[in-house]
Amino acid sequence: MNAHSNSSGQNSKVFHRQLRSGLPVAVGGRGVELIDAAGKRYIDASGGAAVSCLGHGHPDVIAAMHEQLDRLAYAHTSFFTTEVAEELAELLIDSAPDGMSHVYFVSGGSEAVEAALKMARQYFVEIGQPQRRHFIARRQSYHGNTLGALAVGGNAWRREQFKPLLMDVTHVSPCYEYRDCRADETPEQYGQRLVAELSEAIDQLGGENVMAFVAETIGGATAGVLTPVPGYFKGVRELCDRHGILLILDEVMCGMGRSGTLHACEQEGVVPDLLTIAKGLGGGYQPIGAVLAQAKLVDAFRQGSGLFQHGHTYLGHAVACAAALAVQRVIIRDDLLHQVRTRGAALQALLKARFGDHPHVGDIRGRGLFWGVELVAERGSKQWFNPARKLHARIKSEAMVEGLMVYPMSGTVDGVRGDHILLAPPFIASEDELAQIVHRLGSAVDRAI
Ligand code: PLP
Repeated sequence: MNAHSNSSGQNSKVFHRQLRSGLPVAVGGRGVELIDAAGKRYIDASGGAAVSCLGHGHPDVIAAMHEQLDRLAYAHTSFFTTEVAEELAELLIDSAPDGMSHVYFVSGGSEAVEAALKMARQYFVEIGQPQRRHFIARRQSYHGNTLGALAVGGNAWRREQFKPLLMDVTHVSPCYEYRDCRADETPEQYGQRLVAELSEAIDQLGGENVMAFVAETIGGATAGVLTPVPGYFKGVRELCDRHGILLILDEVMCGMGRSGTLHACEQEGVVPDLLTIAKGLGGGYQPIGAVLAQAKLVDAFRQGSGLFQHGHTYLGHAVACAAALAVQRVIIRDDLLHQVRTRGAALQALLKARFGDHPHVGDIRGRGLFWGVELVAERGSKQWFNPARKLHARIKSEAMVEGLMVYPMSGTVDGVRGDHILLAPPFIASEDELAQIVHRLGSAVDRAI
């Protein structure tokens, strides 16, 4: 491999995801930019995959990690707790939705979802309802790539070849206003229709047999930032309560400030039973995720078997907790949630100005600094481009030529794949940097189409 790029991928011994094409070699990162070995700079407009909320090379986070490394890197959680894990848990619970009492630390988003699914199952075993064995989730969703997470996920393409390995999960419609809200209904009526569909699915399984409904509060990696319509999650919460079903909200991507509030569910006025977080929790400085749990679950475990029968070697890793604690303290100290809201409004205005009349942009949607752009062959019919063109992937590579990182996605509806672009810039991005992002994205989109 030459020093500047692994241009063909042929000589690399890393088992990369893409084995036929090469990658530039990243050697540095400062602020909103990543730098490759040839010295080329890329604005990180997607935070990798909605991870790098503080950008790169933040001195306070690096200092906190050094300090923790000097003191203690690792202590297995079956022997010890650590001060830093306790401090981080306290900070997260102080700002958590009502009734959440404990945090279970893991190493990433998929692990958080797996843990939440197993918590739900064990909870019902502990309280004497072992017949509950079904999860309901949504199509056009993504909850991770491990087998449990993939089973609840609804991305048809990602699931296809692994289907024989996946548990049986009932999938209902996601909240996809742009494509599914009918002309003769309001967004609120559309939301009620979705809740009625969920209600039917519950009745078919028998409410007493369902463990949990699993959903991303704002859909992320599958269909380009699907924001919920007003009242939808309130209706879902009421329905779950009526049947004693847990609500698991997956905020691995949309959470930890990305939507303009710490947790996206705050804007829906609902409190889940289990809340998964990751990505922005550690901002990419260390791999870390977590499940926030309601006291009633923790109490059931404590009074029952006394043990959550699950665990990984690296859960609660001290340096990962130190990185996350530092990231969250910087967000609070610098009032970055306010900045997410104001810069988010600026980004929305820039996107609407550049793409509002674009013949191939069907929808621009999002909240805070979390935006999706849906591409269509024709705006009137909302028809997608021929999937064989892999437009999303071409936009990604054209953007890299421009010095811009955007996250491309290919959602599937009724077996047809469409193209979306996801933007999730660091919370520290300036208005000038946001303008650069939209300018470069415009050039990349026009060249790719
Ligand atoms: N859940 C959601 C909503 C996600 O967006 C992702 C990743 O994109 C995951 C879970 C999986 O997280 P990870 O890739 O850290 O395992």
